[in-house]
Amino acid sequence: MAWAFTEPQTGSDPKQLATTAVPDGDGWRLHGQKLFISYARQANVAVVFARTPGGSVGAFIVETDTPGWSTGTPFELLALGGGEPVPIFLDDVFVPGDQLIGAPDQGFQAMIAGEAQGKIRAAAICVGIAQRAIDEAAAYALGRTHRGEPIAKKFPTIQGLLGEMEATTLGARTLVHHAAELIDGGQDVAREAAAARLVAGRAAREVTNAAMQVCGAYGLTRELPLERLYREGKFFEVAQGVAEIQRAIVARHVIADHST
Ligand SMILES: Cc1cc2nc3c(=O)[nH]c(=O)nc-3n(C[C@H](O)[C@H](O)[C@H](O)COP(=O)(O)OP(=O)(O)OC[C@H]3O[C@@H](n4cnc5c(N)ncnc54)[C@H](O)[C@@H]3O)c2cc1C
Repeated sequence: MAWAFTEPQTGSDPKQLATTAVPDGDGWRLHGQKLFISYARQANVAVVFARTPGGSVGAFIVETDTPGWSTGTPFELLALGGGEPVPIFLDDVFVPGDQLIGAPDQGFQAMIAGEAQGKIRAAAICVGIAQRAIDEAAAYALGRTHRGEPIAKKFPTIQGLLGEMEATTLGARTLVHHAAELIDGGQDVAREAAAARLVAGRAAREVTNAAMQVCGAYGLTRELPLERLYREGKFFEVAQGVAEIQRAIVARHVIADHST
């Protein structure tokens, strides 16, 4: 399944969506363009977000073999290209009425619910990226010697890097588990999902950066997977919601909590 929110003019702001859904008989006609939609060429169905009459946002389940649906060429990315994000062109695509999720003005709620799951999944991947970087750096630091002694044991600076990497990753993993438990329990996780996405994304970037430092020149080569992990860490600062938006979501909760 593909998840089609982003458009040429926005990937972060539902108020700027330009794709329209117009009632037509017992269904809807969708018109517009989406951009950077992962798996859109492979998926049988997509959830497409479009503006409904009155200016609200609706969420529509669209079968991707419906006439009027077409996709463009995938973008080449710095990392994790397997999702093959593509543009989608919606040219009067007919969607039966029973494929509208909820009411015509409830797309935003559907988006928030789906995005929370996606953020926790992305945060879990970030923890995996950080853990792999620790494993690689520790193995290197134990194998690499300076005047006969492993650099992991000889240099406090290397120990400092490893300790910081481990602490950062433990913190991120704990937050991801907490958010996952809340969502499994059916609770509202908007704050925790955004926080997990933010903290784990930062962990992936900081830990891969430190791991490359531990591994010296080898860390910059493709002999080790660290340069790839480093690119993947950067990837998650943008994909699945930019860090700035996650901070804004968490801040909204802080302000609401302290305004009552
Ligand atoms: C590999 C990949 C796969 C993707 N897959 C999908 C997908 O399957 N479905 C989908 O719908 N989208 C997908 N996207 C789109 C992705 O979710 C958006 O690119 C992302 O949300 C950022 O939106 P944008 O690119 O429009 O950035 P913009 O909204 O243009 O933001 C640009 C920059 O402006 C700043 N900014 C923006 N808004 C704010 C704000 N409110 N407050 C403070 N600063 C702000 C940030 O620094 C941000 O980095 C994918 C993107 C990538 C790279």
